[in-house]
Amino acid sequence: MIPAGLLHVEWLVGLAVVGAVVGSFLNVCIWRIPRGESVVRPGSRCPACGTPIRPWHNVPVLSWFWLGGKCAACGTRISPRYPFVEALNAALWVLAGWRFGPGLPALVLLPFLSAMVVLFFTDWDHMILPDRVTLPLAVLGLALAPWNPRLDLGPGLLGSGTVTGRLAAALLGAAVGWGLFFFLVLTWRVLFDREAMGGGDLKMMLGVGAFLGFGGVVTTVFLASVVGTLVAAPYLLTARWHGTRELPFGCFLAPAAVISALWGREMIAWYLHLLPA
Ligand SMILES: [Zn+2]
Repeated sequence: MIPAGLLHVEWLVGLAVVGAVVGSFLNVCIWRIPRGESVVRPGSRCPACGTPIRPWHNVPVLSWFWLGGKCAACGTRISPRYPFVEALNAALWVLAGWRFGPGLPALVLLPFLSAMVVLFFTDWDHMILPDRVTLPLAVLGLALAPWNPRLDLGPGLLGSGTVTGRLAAALLGAAVGWGLFFFLVLTWRVLFDREAMGGGDLKMMLGVGAFLGFGGVVTTVFLASVVGTLVAAPYLLTARWHGTRELPFGCFLAPAAVISALWGREMIAWYLHLLPA
């Protein structure tokens, strides 16, 4: 799949270019999926005047700057969010390519990283983690498991490194991800008599578990909870000044999952190292 002798630089440049093009599609997903619209039809058009966007006005990141952040037809301002999402996806893909080098381990991760971008913004905009993203992600995680070295538990452990071992780790990860959240939601409901999170979080964790395994679920939930608490505490304490809005937990889970995908194993190794022998 990867041509032999591919230079590291070519690999990273390729990831940046394709990542930005895919990022352009992610913008479409972020806008349309929560609205229940098709992501393929019709083609991209200006949200203000409806003019279809010409291919040469649809170059990721660059077009927005060329056109001065405005629609070429009606001059309506186009949100800098669009080039930002394109650049963000390109950056995440390059990061994965740099972290894991040319080859399948990095490629397996790309759809996962892009899905986290979409989920972050749909949760931010609408408090929605759409089934149309989370469920295919879980299925894809299981389907790609045989090529996903992040699911290897370690030398000599439970068929680590074999196809069966990886499939088992993906299933276990998905089950733990879902189960952990189910338990949290249930506890919250019993203790505080209110909904902790939407079902979207549970389904999102299926995919996180299937891609990152048990360890990835633990680091994702840990990071999201720590950062979530650090942000939520001052936010809720100052709510009387800015009015309160429920904090979308997916916006903490998504970046936590990205960090876990890239450095989760190192985090666990470092943590275990801290424990007395
Ligand atoms: Zn327009």
